[in-house]
Formats: sequence, structure tokens, C-alpha cells
Amino acid sequence: MTTRVRYAPSPTGLQHIGGVRTALFNWFFAKSTGGKFILRIEDTDRERYSDESLQDLFDTMDWLGLDWDEGPEKGGPYAPYIQSQRFDIYQKYARELVEKGFAYECFCTEERLESLREEQKSGKSSHQGYDRHCRDLSPEERERKREEFRASGKNPVIRFKVPLSGSTVMEDLLFGKITRKNSDISPDPVLLKSDGFPTYHLANVIDDHLMKITHILRAQEWIPTGPLHILLYNAFGWEVPKYCHLPMVMGKDGQKLSKRHGSTSAREFRENGYLPEAIINYVTMIGWSYDDKTEFFTKDELKKVFSLEKINKAPGVFDYKKLDWFNGQYIRKLQPEELRRRLLPFLQKAKLCSDPPTAKENEILTGAVPLIRERLKKLADAPEMIRFLFEGVHLNDSASLIPKNGSVEATAGALQWLYRFTQAFFGRSDEENEAALREEAERLGVKIGDLLHPLRVAVTGTAVSPPIFETMRLLGAEPVCARVKAAADLLNAAGRDGN
Ligand code: GLU
Ligand code: ZN
Repeated sequence: MTTRVRYAPSPTGLQHIGGVRTALFNWFFAKSTGGKFILRIEDTDRERYSDESLQDLFDTMDWLGLDWDEGPEKGGPYAPYIQSQRFDIYQKYARELVEKGFAYECFCTEERLESLREEQKSGKSSHQGYDRHCRDLSPEERERKREEFRASGKNPVIRFKVPLSGSTVMEDLLFGKITRKNSDISPDPVLLKSDGFPTYHLANVIDDHLMKITHILRAQEWIPTGPLHILLYNAFGWEVPKYCHLPMVMGKDGQKLSKRHGSTSAREFRENGYLPEAIINYVTMIGWSYDDKTEFFTKDELKKVFSLEKINKAPGVFDYKKLDWFNGQYIRKLQPEELRRRLLPFLQKAKLCSDPPTAKENEILTGAVPLIRERLKKLADAPEMIRFLFEGVHLNDSASLIPKNGSVEATAGALQWLYRFTQAFFGRSDEENEAALREEAERLGVKIGDLLHPLRVAVTGTAVSPPIFETMRLLGAEPVCARVKAAADLLNAAGRDGN
């Protein structure tokens, strides 16, 4: 039997990292078993639906390179794969359940349901949820109601008849047997709304059956709906797919991962310059491991080695620091030319490069890559690290030039010397330049860092920069000398003003 799995998101918000994990596990499971990965859009909740969310889903799948064997645009033998295009199917099956006696029409008005809710809230009624009022209407009563609805152009909702006794067992590949008393299942949930829209339960079960889904891999939070779905499969007389609920994704504090912990949407990670290969690797390791030691897996490797047996039952922890480390590792695995290509959009967004980049911009960027690749954690950090290569440096505060424990006078003197140093710099080797710096530091009785600090701030505008000699060579003699001169002048002026 070929494995058939699906990722079935509801486009009601940005793709969450938990959703990404579900998509990845399904995708890798399909690949590792030679099966099919199906993408199905569960857009029946039209109030919460948005086009933006749907677009974000496609962008995320595209970014991660998760293609589907069947699904929107691509089609497939069980098309359409968008639930809002399948309404006739759900209506037909809902009616079938009514005919077979597993579901019934409910004619209750919104006012009646509202007052029921009020009573329950105030404790006047011990019931929870719908009171099954229409479940046992006499045939005459039912016919009368139908007539009444027909005459006023309304449709009754269709509710599922949850058995009043007994219990339902769900077998989960990871969590084992989960047994639920039928009396604990929500009393008679709506399957079809009066406007003809299906609810999640109905559409989900029908589609998983019609699309021949063999395994349902989805977030643990769906476990409570499992027993109801099993009752639906039984009512239709359909085989129940295998379930494998995926452990929760938590923050380091043991709480469900949320905005409080940091970025949670795939879009944010993309915009911050995480590499898709790092996200794929890291997120797959949340709740899954191959052995106790191997951490790095390419997508191709995961396509081979992924297996459900190695999913961990305990909640997975999303560690942002660890992800940053992973991302840095992946950045350093990229060939310089590839890193340059991936950095370009971030520099364009920061308006440091044009679109398309000029020859000069390309040259600067190519030169900058080796200077920053060791320090980069995220691609989006790059523009601020190398802004000074594209733009002049404007120091509006002379204090930043002064090293710790240094004085205005001493730094002004140092900058005079540094100006002469930069003029000679380009005609000498790095060794000669270093020797000159060391000698001057000794003469002044200061540390070499006390000379490097004003030089670095003058040339790059910041106290942390890529290796300064390489940076100066990349910039070239003219701007370097001009910047050091400007800094020396700035500090002189500050000395004269007495601050
Ligand atoms: N549409 C549901 C969701 O948004 C799918 C749940 C399931 O996989 O059954 O997560
Ligand atoms: Zn009713």
C-alpha cells in the first residue's frame, strides 16, 4: 500500500513554526516511504479566512522547497484540493448520514440556543452544550418543522448523533490507545451549517477518506477531536486512517510556543534571514532524532532516514539560541558566491544595493562576503555590518572615537598619527603595518587596541567591524584616508571646544 499523507492547513493566519513542523514531518514521511504528499486547503471557516494567509502558505512551502504530489494548482486524481470548492460533496455525504440515521436536522433558532447557553452559564442547567432537543422529534413534528423552514427559505443545520453510551478508542502510533467515553464527546456537533458550509469535522473526515489518506500526522492539540472523527468514519462505514499526533512545540519555559518567546511565523524567520535549510534541519529535530548525536541533516538525507518510530513523545523545545547557532553553521557552509546571492535581497531592502546591483555594488559585496561570513548569524544582520562599505561614515559624536579610559587629547594625537599611518598603509604589507602600529603603541605606552579603536570607528563608524586591515583594503586608500582625516578634525574641534 502506498503511503498517502496530507498537510491540511486552514489559511487563517501566518504559517506558524508548529505548522511548518507538521508539514515537514508529513513531507519527509511521504518521501522516506516512497509515498505521496498531498496539500489540502481547509478554508471552510470563511470568517477567519484571508487571501494573505493563503499566499503566505504558498510562499512558505515555496521557500522551504516543499512541493506536493497532489494539491492546489497541480491537481490530482481527487481534485479539487481546496475545501471551499467541494461543498456539494459535503452536502451529499451529510444527507447520507441523515438518511442512515447517524445524523439529524436541527431546527433550533439562534435565540433558543442562546438562551440555552445563558442557562448553562448561570448554572440553572446541568447540561453542557446542545441539549439534543431535535434528536428525538416525532416524525410529524419533524415534517412540520421542515415545511416551516422550506416556506421561509431557511435550511436546518445537520448534527451528528453521538452515541449516548459506550466509548470510542483511538489508536495512535505515538501515544497508543486513547479511550474516550462517548458521553464526554460534545453533544451532537454540527456537521453542516444552515448556509450549507461544512464544519471542520465533516470536511476533514470526508476528504481524508476520499483522498485515500493512509496516515494522519498532525499536531497533538487535535487529539481531543479524534474520537468524534472515528465515530464519523464508523458511521460512514469507512476504514479509519492511522493516526500519529505530533508532540507539542514549547518555548524553553515549558509553555506552548508563542509570540512571547520570539518569532513564530515562517515569514518572520524568512525576513530575518534564516536559511531554509537551517530551518528545515532545526525544526525537524524538534521532537525527532535519528540517534543521540547526529545534528546536521540535509533535506536529501532526511528524505531517506526520517521515520515515525523516532518521533519523541515528550514535547519538543524550540531554542532560539540553538537555531541561531544552526543558522550560522549553515551560512558558513555556503559557497561565497552563493552567500553573496542570498545576501543581495537584504542589501537591496536596506537600500544599500540597487536592483539590479551596479558593477561597483557587486564588487563591494563580493569583497565583503569573506569579511563577514564568520560572524553572520542571520542574513538580515549583514546590512548593518557593512553599511560603511556602501555609504560614507558620519560621526556626529566624537566621544565614540575615544577608547575606554582614553582622553580627548591623547586620542586626537593618536588620530594625527593614524592619518599618516593610513597614508602609508596601502604601500606596505600587513606585517609592516602591524609592526608600525605596535611600535607607536609602545612609544605612547598604550595598548595596540587603543590605536585600533579610533581607527576602526573612523573607518567603519562602529566599534565592532570585520577585520580592519582587510576592510581598509576593500575600501581603498582614498575613502580610508579621508575618513581618518575627518575623524582627526572632529576630535581636534572637540578638544578646542573643551569637551
Ligand atoms: N485544518 C486543520 C488545521 O488547521 C487540520 C487539522 C488536521 O490535520 O486534521 O490544523
Ligand atoms: Zn435543535
